[in-house]
Amino acid sequence: MSGGSDYDVVIIGGGPGGYAAALYGASAGLSIALVEDDALGGTCLNRGCIPAKALLQTAEVHRTANHAGDFGIVADGVSTFSADWSKVATRTTGIVDRLVGGLAGLIKRRKVDLVTGRGRLTSSGGVSVDGKELRGKAVIIATGSVPRSIPGFEFDGELIVSSDHSTRSSSLPERVAVIGGGVIGSEFASVYTDVGVQTTLLEALPGGVLPIGPDPELAGILSRALVKRGTKIHAQAMASPPEKSNGGLVLGFETKDGSEKIEVDQVLVATGRRPVTEDMGLTEAGVRVSDKGFIEVDTTTMATTKPGVYAVGDVVDTPGLAHVAYAEAIVAIKAILGENPLPVDYDRVPWVVYTHPEVAWAGYTEAAAKAAGYDVVVHKHKFAGNGRAMIIGDTDGLVKIVAERNGPLLGAHIVGPWASELISESYLAINWQALPEEVGAFIHAHPSLSEAVGETMLALTGRSLHG
Ligand code: NAD
Repeated sequence: MSGGSDYDVVIIGGGPGGYAAALYGASAGLSIALVEDDALGGTCLNRGCIPAKALLQTAEVHRTANHAGDFGIVADGVSTFSADWSKVATRTTGIVDRLVGGLAGLIKRRKVDLVTGRGRLTSSGGVSVDGKELRGKAVIIATGSVPRSIPGFEFDGELIVSSDHSTRSSSLPERVAVIGGGVIGSEFASVYTDVGVQTTLLEALPGGVLPIGPDPELAGILSRALVKRGTKIHAQAMASPPEKSNGGLVLGFETKDGSEKIEVDQVLVATGRRPVTEDMGLTEAGVRVSDKGFIEVDTTTMATTKPGVYAVGDVVDTPGLAHVAYAEAIVAIKAILGENPLPVDYDRVPWVVYTHPEVAWAGYTEAAAKAAGYDVVVHKHKFAGNGRAMIIGDTDGLVKIVAERNGPLLGAHIVGPWASELISESYLAINWQALPEEVGAFIHAHPSLSEAVGETMLALTGRSLHG
């Protein structure tokens, strides 16, 4: 590409969508500028996925250490382990710094120009950064999203916080209320409960945790596991703005059973995120933005309504997942290269919630498959009978696979140990439109957690070993 442009592609935003576009584009030989006004890596590396999962791992170690006796490990003079949150924060920061540093090195080695500042689209389709204009043959917008607050719960970073604060905090509240039982609310409820914080979770919808997304049976298993460990979960709960008290904050809420008041030290609001698309010159430049602030795109190419301008990641109304942003970045770069990208199949992306137990799924739930008109068969296999699950002392959960009768796999739903890793095989098989007997014929190592997936696939053929 050449002529009248400084770069082949100018990318605004250095989170997963933006940096993936930069790395993939550079590996295809494109000249690239990446505009970022904060730390490279965006929310995911700095305030989201990575630090949150580091905290969940700390919670896992806390659980294991305090149940070491179950494995015959005894310590002289120590009966309980507790979390030193400033040390936990230091460890988390170390992981974040290593990843951000590694990413900066990779960006440099690929000869991507990192431009520091706030990028804005100009009406002529260029990108202005602090008064300087960068011209690209194509522009990709990947400015991500930020936590959405609710009226009366404005973030102050101490008493009323978002995941931005909680992922990087060096202190732990003693009593916390989590508003919203979605992905973020569930993961934090899991961390806090495990490290001994009195945790109350308030979800507006019926059910409990994860009311939208996974198979309700999986969400139910997670809800029960959290309640058993001490999380107080209130469904159909609407909280009123908290009031300061001598001891912290008083939070009133209504459920169908009546009203209640609790005192907490902190309120974590996890009621969703909103795209960052304001004050970027989008509408003026001809990029259409929806009422909810999402950039409208043709998902076969990620092209916006302005020719030459593309958008990927959380600014687009698709699943707000880093790995979806990566995939969209590849689609956009391929489209810019004039190749025919394979669009993301949004109904079949892998979802993972890193709670304890972990919840992961890809493809249709049983109900969604039926609603889409499929004649379905479903099989389940519990981890309770799996040798490896017993060995690691983690038997809560199951694998549930949905297939079309006499047809391909439609969905996989796993709750239990290492569901986050186990989902990959089923994700691949579903997207490959494999038949259960094809997958069931493959061997799974014994003993392994993955046998639970293999057994479920085999059972769908009408015969089984332990299923
Ligand atoms: P979410 O949309 O997943 O969940 C928000 C929840 O809050 C919903 O269940 C909703 O019913 C509830 N809610 C809304 N208003 C409420 C109110 N006033 N009172 C009580 N409940 C209320 O949003 P999130 O958990 O904030 O996550 C935001 C984004 O981050 C999502 O796109 C998610 O995919 C992404 N994320 C993903 C992961 C992961 O993949 N493991 C982890 C963290 C975040």
